Amino acid sequence: MSGTPRLDDTHDVALRSWVESAHADAHPDASAVGTDFPIQNLPFGVFRHEFEERPHLGIAIGDQVLDCLEATRAGCFHALDPAVRDALQSWSLNGLMALGRTDARAVRGVASRMLRVGTPESDAAQKLRDRILVPMARVSMLVPAEIGDYTDFYASMFHARRVGALFRPDNPLLPNYKWIPIGYHGRASSIVASGSPVRRPSGQTQKGADAPPTFGPCANLDYEVELAIWVCGDNAIGEPIPIARAEEHLFGLGLLNDWSARDMQSWEYQPLGPFLAKNFVSTVSPWVVTLDALEPFRLPAFVREAGDPQPLAYLDAAADRARGGFGVTLEVSLLTAKMRDGGMPPHRLSQSEASSLYWTPAQLLTHHASNGCNLRPGDLLGSGTVSGPTDNSRGCLLEITRRGADPMTLPGGETRTFLLDGDEVIMRGWCERPGAARIGFGECRGTVRG
Ligand code: CA
Repeated sequence: MSGTPRLDDTHDVALRSWVESAHADAHPDASAVGTDFPIQNLPFGVFRHEFEERPHLGIAIGDQVLDCLEATRAGCFHALDPAVRDALQSWSLNGLMALGRTDARAVRGVASRMLRVGTPESDAAQKLRDRILVPMARVSMLVPAEIGDYTDFYASMFHARRVGALFRPDNPLLPNYKWIPIGYHGRASSIVASGSPVRRPSGQTQKGADAPPTFGPCANLDYEVELAIWVCGDNAIGEPIPIARAEEHLFGLGLLNDWSARDMQSWEYQPLGPFLAKNFVSTVSPWVVTLDALEPFRLPAFVREAGDPQPLAYLDAAADRARGGFGVTLEVSLLTAKMRDGGMPPHRLSQSEASSLYWTPAQLLTHHASNGCNLRPGDLLGSGTVSGPTDNSRGCLLEITRRGADPMTLPGGETRTFLLDGDEVIMRGWCERPGAARIGFGECRGTVRG
């Protein structure tokens, strides 16, 4: 992990793109904060054209997608290694993730020069505009990588403490929490892209402490707002990844909704942890914001409370303490069927900060590999629900309604304890600070169906 910021010409706040929609001031709505995808962002994703089955790699720019397959065929990436050009013409991001961050940075550099005004590369690219750019509105976004393995962590102490207090008021945080990043192995097969429907799961639940369980539809369906952490490179079985090298394996970040069936979870979770309450579907945002794009938004790791243990040596590095955090703001909104029918806007449920996570992404990755477990390109790590200390930074309904004890009232007068059929959960994320161009993550949406 390098302790020095790697800011370069791709981060320059003064850059202008010839793609008009890539500028905040291109939006007529004065209240809009602008596009999530200015030229300083350039996230990677995988999309499908309207009338073609074959997925293409893409790079988001304003309301357009740079088609990496067509751009490579047209020679736009001729300066890159053949292995990189092959990866750009493949069906998923795994190839680029296998090559690693240095090659992804090279692609970013070329794409930036192609899409900004005033470079020889952009003069050539503009002539190819109709071939290499496609409107986002005309493509379907897919899960960006073939995910071999998915692991979900529990890295927000504020979430862990609030949830723990519901079950153990006297002892909300278990004694291991501040020593070891808690996680469990999730399931990759049911990870879907934003916009995919979410079927309400059925399972075993117990209605009362001594009642026999019954099987039926989940009654306490919840969401969890999390960071999606995409892995690149790999390590051999038996070869841990030292924390000093952890960020070489962090390709980028996205959004993750870890849909959770709370009633099923509370019956099944002991003694081995979450199982069917968590693996029926998980939704990811389609755009992967690279660590290079996030460079201007790095923050110190979470500052632990006085008296907390310091991380053990294998999880501790000066560079990680100095800038292992990410200044990403996460927002969750709810749009019910009634609100949608009445033309009402989504209602914001929470806003929280990834920088408040107790463990950094580098610590999560290093811990995961510390026993010699091999991580592979395209693996997905969930941060765990990102919650903060305040009431408006609670990242799931379990926290907001205190396990259903405190129903919330929505602007149209409806109340909710957990999600009902027709409810759409909309997650957004963004980074902003003075002196840097604001970048966003796009959306992670899902509507509950019966
Ligand atoms: Ca979770």
